[in-house]
Amino acid sequence: MPTTTNIDHLRQQLTGTVAARGEAAYDDLRSCWNLTVDLQPELIIAAADEADVQAAARYAAEHNLPITVLATGHGQPRNCQGGIVIRTSAINHVEVEPASRTAKVGGGAVWGDVIAAAHPHGLAPLSGSSPNVGVVGYLLGGGYGLMLRTYGLGIDHVKAFRVVLSDGTAVTASAESHTDLFWALQGGGGSFGIVTEVTVGLVPHAEVYAGSMMFPADRAPEVYAVYGRWTKTLPNDLTTGLIMISFPPVPFVPEFLQGRQMVILTACMAADPERANELLQPMRDLGPEFDFMGVMPFTESARVYNDPVDPLPANGRGILLRDVDDEALAKLLEAIGPMAYSPNLMIQLRHLGGAMANRAESDSPIGDRRRATYVLYLLGVTMGPVTMEMMAGHAESVFAALQPWTLSRGPLNWLGEGAVSAEEIRSVFGDADYERLCAVKRTYDVRNAFRCAGVGICDA
Ligand SMILES: Cc1cc2nc3c(=O)[nH]c(=O)nc-3n(C[C@H](O)[C@H](O)[C@H](O)COP(=O)(O)OP(=O)(O)OC[C@H]3O[C@@H](n4cnc5c(N)ncnc54)[C@H](O)[C@@H]3O)c2cc1C
Repeated sequence: MPTTTNIDHLRQQLTGTVAARGEAAYDDLRSCWNLTVDLQPELIIAAADEADVQAAARYAAEHNLPITVLATGHGQPRNCQGGIVIRTSAINHVEVEPASRTAKVGGGAVWGDVIAAAHPHGLAPLSGSSPNVGVVGYLLGGGYGLMLRTYGLGIDHVKAFRVVLSDGTAVTASAESHTDLFWALQGGGGSFGIVTEVTVGLVPHAEVYAGSMMFPADRAPEVYAVYGRWTKTLPNDLTTGLIMISFPPVPFVPEFLQGRQMVILTACMAADPERANELLQPMRDLGPEFDFMGVMPFTESARVYNDPVDPLPANGRGILLRDVDDEALAKLLEAIGPMAYSPNLMIQLRHLGGAMANRAESDSPIGDRRRATYVLYLLGVTMGPVTMEMMAGHAESVFAALQPWTLSRGPLNWLGEGAVSAEEIRSVFGDADYERLCAVKRTYDVRNAFRCAGVGICDA
């Protein structure tokens, strides 16, 4: 049990900060981007370096306390009452090695840190739609990025993870060392240890052809039908998504979109503009109301999805689809219903496949989920009369309509918050990979210290 005396002793060992419940720093350190998350641990330790993380893990082991990690709070850190939250955000170094096109990235860095450090070398990471999301949290869930069809998942470019285990020892997990742990970390979530550094591969693109095209939502049937057929013809060069969105009439939304329902095509392409224009022509032929596609430095890649930056009470959930055809897309639109009445503000269909399917299924816990060709993700914000239950109910009715085309729940990064059932978590991986994850968990987290980490994997 933490006492004033043993907390003071812990403080003496750390460079970073320790905040106990009731202390001044506690509320600041427990704050999450997702405002639905209300972390109430016994202690929060804002680690300054790997040694701090080790000391924190040893302290938790001595007192038999559960541990969870908080980087940005974009994911779903669980409450961890009675336990310890290790805040990693100060461990955010990025060291780019241009010759090997790799970067060593601190366990609490966000993608924006890596994008900024890589860009002067003409390099880019395999980041996702928001530069504010944590590098490690994103990778532990697979990493579904802006150039996924060209380069595969974010984890397909991880060379090594440096990990502090629940007893405080630090190990390197890679293709050469602790290979079972390396396998689990490539998409199996944060239930195995605390990542203090990850070495990632970078790709040679200072610029991309990227952006969005916007159509009024009443054109959805035509736009979805063309998108479904068009994506089947695309080479791996182009990664796209189609978003149905209801813009709230609030100041952070540009005035010309406030209160409007739109269908937005997003695209990112690591190839020359002429080729990009050629590939995008069938969607341009539909006559978008706004066309914001063009060449941009990768440092501006946040403009592809324009994800919200400020904290929000957001809640989303997703499914992986084997494939979609005209019938599936018609059912999707029918199930969504008029956007004006949907409790979910945004419905994203992202095109997967391409290089994502190139790696062997046995290489990572993503397993046969690599064969998914689309991911469908619904996201709402609890405001006004809209509750979590309304958003979840609407999402579940959409998923039910798409059952014949569904491969599984997930992916882990979009599984959903709150009451995610054990079956839903297992469905993200499939039985065999889930059992293999549990075996790794039993080896590396013997006392089940990470039982309140993110989405609960093998922690019952
Ligand atoms: C606006 C937005 C855009 C997104 N876009 C994408 C996208 O394009 N592609 C995609 O794949 N995902 C995307 N996501 C999902 C995102 O990748 C996950 O929510 C991810 O878990 C967030 O990680 P975080 O570190 O930022 O958040 P946190 O909530 O701080 O962490 C989430 C979980 O990750 C684990 N974790 C984090 N850091 C560590 C560490 N150092 N060691 C061990 N465990 C750790 C913990 O279990 C923690 O509970 C998006 C989410 C949001 C909100």
